[in-house]
Amino acid sequence: MYFFNLLLLNLFPVIFSKKIIKWYETNKRHLPWRETNDPYKIWLSEIILQQTRIDQGLDYYLKFIKHYPNIKSLAAASETEVLKQWQGLGYYTRARNLHLTAKYITEKLDGRFPDIYDEIIGLKGIGEYTAAAISSIAFNQSYPVVDGNVLRFFSRYFGIKTDIKSHETKKVILNRAESLIDKKQPGTFNQAVMEFGALHCIPANPKCPECIFKKNCYAFTNKIVDKLPLSINKVKQRKRHFNYLIFLRKLKNGKVTYLKQRTENDIWKNLYDFPLVESKTKILLSGARKIIEKQFGIPLNHSSVAGSKEFKHILTHQIIHARFFIIDLPKKQKVLSMNSDIKNKWVEVNADTISKFPIPRLIDRYLKENNIFEG
Ligand code: SF4
Repeated sequence: MYFFNLLLLNLFPVIFSKKIIKWYETNKRHLPWRETNDPYKIWLSEIILQQTRIDQGLDYYLKFIKHYPNIKSLAAASETEVLKQWQGLGYYTRARNLHLTAKYITEKLDGRFPDIYDEIIGLKGIGEYTAAAISSIAFNQSYPVVDGNVLRFFSRYFGIKTDIKSHETKKVILNRAESLIDKKQPGTFNQAVMEFGALHCIPANPKCPECIFKKNCYAFTNKIVDKLPLSINKVKQRKRHFNYLIFLRKLKNGKVTYLKQRTENDIWKNLYDFPLVESKTKILLSGARKIIEKQFGIPLNHSSVAGSKEFKHILTHQIIHARFFIIDLPKKQKVLSMNSDIKNKWVEVNADTISKFPIPRLIDRYLKENNIFEG
């Protein structure tokens, strides 16, 4: 009996991996980055798919590959162009790092994507997960990947009852994945476990009755599927109040306004938005008028200010409450009379040029609902 159990234990990884790969071959979604082993395309897809749904990520992936079919073309683009292509995806650090790394590979590595895990993980913007994904999928090396889908699937299957967000839990699950990975086809195995979590062992109402693993699944056999994975620490979201000032000036050829590049170490770094005043609480029109007069030196007796409704924008760690105040600058009011320091960082845009700048989704939403250049 002892030897029989030992044999079963040794065979378990083989049985598990055969089962999941078979499931994958039948059920996988056909996606362009699964039809290639080009490390650039796999890297790009992995970066795009962090924090992004596949249907949304696919459009961006296709757009990126069209604009930048290889590392060299991505490296040759300007950061503003890359951010523009990324616009709407969020987590813009990903795009900046992608661009920096493409430049580094082109300039320092002769355009060759490294094929050694330790070198891959040394690249900017590439962590353990992405390095393992590239190493296994592009170079057939045996490094397990653990994303949110694998964490959920394995925590249920193995009955791991510790906080899913903790470092310890991730380590335990990584060790499990390491012991199960198919060494002959690690890339396929990794994609199979991720896909199984994404399509079958889903967060709400996983497909347990028809699951190929239900006989040995701890959560299913113990009727605690709805209790796992265990999530203890809720992410704390910081509330912020953004008051955007849209200074509009009528010229012969139409209206112009000003954008400002976000150079500070904050959300949306290097993207463009309108001149912004952040406040601790909500600001009313009267408060905005005072700011415009005092901080920007615009006399308001000859001009009008109109406030928008509040726009709520939710990020992982922050909730932005934004209001937009349109200020019609009097005809002879020169922009130079504003604080010159501030003026230097502003760019003048009209209806035709505004779309060339990378802007946060919040600004895009506002502009789509309000044609500020009209009238
Ligand atoms: S039985 Fe249910 S909980 Fe267990 S692995 Fe299958 S889908 Fe997930």
